[in-house]
Amino acid sequence: METAVPKISDFPTGEENTAYAQYFSGKSWLAPLTANKDLNVPINNVTFEPGSRNNWHSHTGGQILIAVGGAGYYQERGKKARRIESGDIVEIAPNVEHWHGAAPDSWFSHIAITANPQTNENQWLEPVSDEQYAEAVK
Ligand code: MN
Repeated sequence: METAVPKISDFPTGEENTAYAQYFSGKSWLAPLTANKDLNVPINNVTFEPGSRNNWHSHTGGQILIAVGGAGYYQERGKKARRIESGDIVEIAPNVEHWHGAAPDSWFSHIAITANPQTNENQWLEPVSDEQYAEAVK
């Protein structure tokens, strides 16, 4: 079933993110913002429906998130979750386990920039449970 995605930023929403759906709880959409692979800095806009979030994961090269619309959360393992809104920037160090996603009552979009893309690999872990999510966003 098609979900109507509201316009929450000036960036494109792209297509439903089916390739990574196995690593998400809830739906997401992915829009590549750049095309020239020779530049080798993958930049994507990721949009989450309310309550949607990705699994616990880490990036061997690290990652930078730039929130561009709606409201979401970012949490590192063992730390308090941080609420993020348009204009907020999250710098994620290599190999730090974390998740990111929407607030329960809001759509959310962030631009994701892959750091150290020549060598980066994503390590996908277990889903963020409903209990972990509820604790993070309360
Ligand atoms: Mn990440």
